[in-house]
Amino acid sequence: MNFSVTMLGTASAVPFSDRNPSAQALSVHGRLYLLDCGEGTQQRLRQEHLSFVKIQAIFISHIHGDHLFGLFGLLNTMSLFHRTAPLSIFGPSNLAPVLDFFLNTFGAQLGFELVFTPLTMEEPEEIFSDGDLHVSAFPLNHNTPCYGFLCTEEVGLRRNAWKPRTYAYCSDTAPFPELPNWIKGVDMLYHEATYPQELAHKAQQYFHSTSLDAARCAAEAEAGTLIIGHYSSRIKDLSIFVNECRTIFANTVAADDGDIFEIPMER
Ligand SMILES: [Zn+2]
Ligand SMILES: [Zn+2]
Repeated sequence: MNFSVTMLGTASAVPFSDRNPSAQALSVHGRLYLLDCGEGTQQRLRQEHLSFVKIQAIFISHIHGDHLFGLFGLLNTMSLFHRTAPLSIFGPSNLAPVLDFFLNTFGAQLGFELVFTPLTMEEPEEIFSDGDLHVSAFPLNHNTPCYGFLCTEEVGLRRNAWKPRTYAYCSDTAPFPELPNWIKGVDMLYHEATYPQELAHKAQQYFHSTSLDAARCAAEAEAGTLIIGHYSSRIKDLSIFVNECRTIFANTVAADDGDIFEIPMER
């Protein structure tokens, strides 16, 4: 009964040899769910020995390329692997024409149905539930429609049920007052920290967060652990980010590609 998240990509806009654009694989009770799908996601899944076949649903935060460009190759490969089960994709409504373009141009070969749900909510709303996981989406504060996801384990009527584990995915966003309340008490929070504090003006300009913004959100949300990522390529030394975060929120970890974070069961 695992509940873990694998960092497939922790870079911001530009891919590097050792850091890929945003994508995470959430694994719950052996099922897989993708959070964002930056370029190279299918290669990253292979490197982490995660099976495409187990992917139940894909959640796209927004249509910036560093969160999306891996989707089309992945869909094509799923089809080559003879997927026939419909695939649910969630994302902002401006993803619809992008998917339509893909389907109109390449869809004839696609052996399964895409079921797209456009996100338009202004506060948290449940969007997905399959007996193992339920997911609610909420708007973030970025320069294009962007959504965060709160992923909650479903334990159902199992005997000796444990406390449902929770993971929040918040990328990309500038800080805003409602966010900590929407994810209050989350076990593990992924929050982007694109810039260190000295580049706060860049964060404001591009609707991103600094390390301190991420740490303040984690502290106000009373999160268990803060995972940061989506680092600007200007900064090579991640200790700058993590040390700044820890001045406000001690339990901060700077994610690298390939890191796996497991949330332990608590009864
Ligand atoms: Zn981004
Ligand atoms: Zn973005």
